Amino acid sequence: MKIIDFHCDTISQLHDYIKKGEDINLRSNKLHLDIEKMKKSNYMLQVFASYVDLGSNKNILETALTHIDLLHREIEKNSDDIGMVYTYEDILKNNKENKMSALLSIEEGGVCKGNLSLLRNFYKLGVRMMTLTWNYENELSYPNGHFYNEESKERKGLKEKGFEFINEMENLGMIIDVSHLSDDGIYDVYNNTSKPFIASHSNARSICSHNRNLSDDMIKKIGERGGIIGVNFYSSFLKNGHTGTDTSMIEDIIKHMRYIANVGGVDVVGLGTDFDGIDCGLEFKDSSNMQLIVDGMRKKGFKEEEIEKIFYKNALNLFERIL
Ligand SMILES: [Zn+2]
Repeated sequence: MKIIDFHCDTISQLHDYIKKGEDINLRSNKLHLDIEKMKKSNYMLQVFASYVDLGSNKNILETALTHIDLLHREIEKNSDDIGMVYTYEDILKNNKENKMSALLSIEEGGVCKGNLSLLRNFYKLGVRMMTLTWNYENELSYPNGHFYNEESKERKGLKEKGFEFINEMENLGMIIDVSHLSDDGIYDVYNNTSKPFIASHSNARSICSHNRNLSDDMIKKIGERGGIIGVNFYSSFLKNGHTGTDTSMIEDIIKHMRYIANVGGVDVVGLGTDFDGIDCGLEFKDSSNMQLIVDGMRKKGFKEEEIEKIFYKNALNLFERIL
């Protein structure tokens, strides 16, 4: 089964290890994801996020630019197996040549510092997807965990800059990613955009009541718009009562897939593994064993065409419409 995954933090991890002086690369490493593991699982495309911690990092722009350079260089070094993609046609071309694809995203809209010219420059560097926030308030919006205040009637959605940004992202053809965003922010995106948008790595709140997960209404709205929700493999987002020390089980991942498909339609479900952004144990170890999830889905009664949609066809469709 081919695979398109909407989110991993591998490039930020690589960068951190390199900074500490380790000899580590994207070809073959100790992380959840590398090119050898991707080949073993038959990946078609991986979205690589530049994740920047706004709380502890004083040079966010420099860090994001360094991540982007690192990804470009690593992909270049492995150009026999994988190529950067900027358009839908690039993905098809790589696929035809038996090559995998790498698509660049940013996980923290704050790296743009509220400046649209930085956003446009990131687009020129290849960024095709961006979360408006991570877990901190920034110039664009409030993150998950900030809720509408009934008493003061204060909303915690997008700020003025945030509205300007989603407008420009739609103009550019950059995919708006609402993972990590506040509930009000997600509705602001829905009410002020016309193209599909995604939650690259979020689950169903009805199954696991974490703020990072999506309500049934949000799942329906993302589905109505033609967007996608990438199911996240983090134990804390999969099962009530679980923390990062618990192991993520295939059964729980499949439960979220089934639930989101039941609420929003099978066309809304995708993969958002969060590999190398999550520190929990994984029943299937890493990205080299993705076919174990396919086996699990077959056992749970998913039809072949449903698995194909969830694993790559829905994502491919979205890229065709936006990139
Ligand atoms: Zn994340």
